Amino acid sequence: MVVTAVSDEEKPSPENGKRTKRLRLFAHHSLAHNAAAAIMVATTAVALVCVAAFAAASYAVLDSRASDGIADESHRFASYIDEAKLDGDDLVDFLDEQATLMGGDMRITLISNDGTVLFDNDVADVSMLESHAGRPEFVQAEIDGESSAGRYSETLQEVTLYHSVRLYNDDVLRFATTQSSVWGMMLHMLGPCAVVVVLALVSAAVGSRFLAQVISADLMRIDLDRPLESDAPVELSPLLTRLDAQRKRLEAQASERRQYTANVSHELKTPLTVISGYAEIIAAGIAKDEDVKSFAHTIHSESQRMRSMVDDIISLSKLDDMGKDSTSGDDLGVDMNQVVSLESLANDVCGRLRPYAEDHAVSLSCEIERSGNEPVVVRGNAQILGEMVRNLAENAIRYNVEGGRAHVAIIGAADGSAVVRMSDTGIGIPPELRERVFERFFRVDESRSKETGGSGLGLAIVKHAAQVHGAKISVMGNEPQGTIIEVHFPAK
Ligand code: ADP
Repeated sequence: MVVTAVSDEEKPSPENGKRTKRLRLFAHHSLAHNAAAAIMVATTAVALVCVAAFAAASYAVLDSRASDGIADESHRFASYIDEAKLDGDDLVDFLDEQATLMGGDMRITLISNDGTVLFDNDVADVSMLESHAGRPEFVQAEIDGESSAGRYSETLQEVTLYHSVRLYNDDVLRFATTQSSVWGMMLHMLGPCAVVVVLALVSAAVGSRFLAQVISADLMRIDLDRPLESDAPVELSPLLTRLDAQRKRLEAQASERRQYTANVSHELKTPLTVISGYAEIIAAGIAKDEDVKSFAHTIHSESQRMRSMVDDIISLSKLDDMGKDSTSGDDLGVDMNQVVSLESLANDVCGRLRPYAEDHAVSLSCEIERSGNEPVVVRGNAQILGEMVRNLAENAIRYNVEGGRAHVAIIGAADGSAVVRMSDTGIGIPPELRERVFERFFRVDESRSKETGGSGLGLAIVKHAAQVHGAKISVMGNEPQGTIIEVHFPAK
């Protein structure tokens, strides 16, 4: 039978830890606040993505429309001019007239075959303009008959699209139109964007209030006494399962505590009754002189028993606190980082208990099995470990037979792990009760334990002492009779 000394209470998993952190982050916010924040972030992000996508799409459409538009217009004009063989002032007048009719959206430029600008509806005095002979849209049109180009102006934040066509007399007719750049378009979008964001904020405020009400109504419906029977949404079922498990655990702990308190009171009451009974008889003067000594002896031994029980109760409650997740040895002023030599600890216990063993006619021995020359040490608290070995050795003597043996072996392995093995040739523990002897106040033989001064807490202390050191306990029967209890310390 192996008793695992690690607490079976639920330890927080890393995932739980993360969850707690997240909850703590929002601990001072209301549900409505959290919902509003989430909705606002999501809505604003969606709104911005939509605006950007819309701007990009519009830009692409407008761009292709504009370039198609000026290309069509320039072809239409060029074929008319070519057919009518317009030239000189006639041509300039015609272009001027058409440009006025078009309302100034389009810029029309006529460039002679040497690059001189002959007409430009945007410029009053074309003679001021430099030669366009080097302009790519002109050069290309002279070579290929027509050309398209786009140029971005940093200062205007606009793109100008050009389409040039070579006329029958080798002059070039250029149509140009401006197109807002993506950033320019975005700038135009700022207004609608702000409206969308404001709408997002307003909808978050309204939506969050509604959401908070829905969520809190669901939460309020949870019956904390019967969480799994609550009519709650499925998303809450992991939480409810945990709540239910926690409720059961708390109930079990409360009942255990009640039982323990009842046991402690009962255990303390028995010696107290004896003490007060004898003291009363002596005080009333009805005790015979020859009995007073034996009464006083009983009072003394019962008070000793009470004192050792109170000591055990205090030790156990300290170990209990140390076993809790949130409490460390440091919080209780217990140094758990001592390097403890199990060898000197065992020798010390054996030395101290030898007279006790002799009283019980039991031979007590101590043995060290090292692997190599390394001393057998563990990290922890020397006092707690000493109490653990003492309790084991005391039991091995107390539950022994006349002429029996009690043997403490300290075994160190090469990997740094260590075992404390307490074996005796005593009365033994029935196999079916070996697990229960670690329960508080559990005794196999009530009268023998009390007769020999046992508090019923010794092995509970051993179990907790092992637990706070990360050690495991195993209980076995000894051959041909007796008990072996081993405490296994893992390699550090
Ligand atoms: P107690 O103070 O009664 O000894 P413990 O918690 O130390 O309390 O032990 C619980 C019970 O386990 C004892 O009452 C005894 O019946 C049994 N027990 C413990 N150690 C031994 C042992 N070495 N041999 C036989 N029985 C033992």
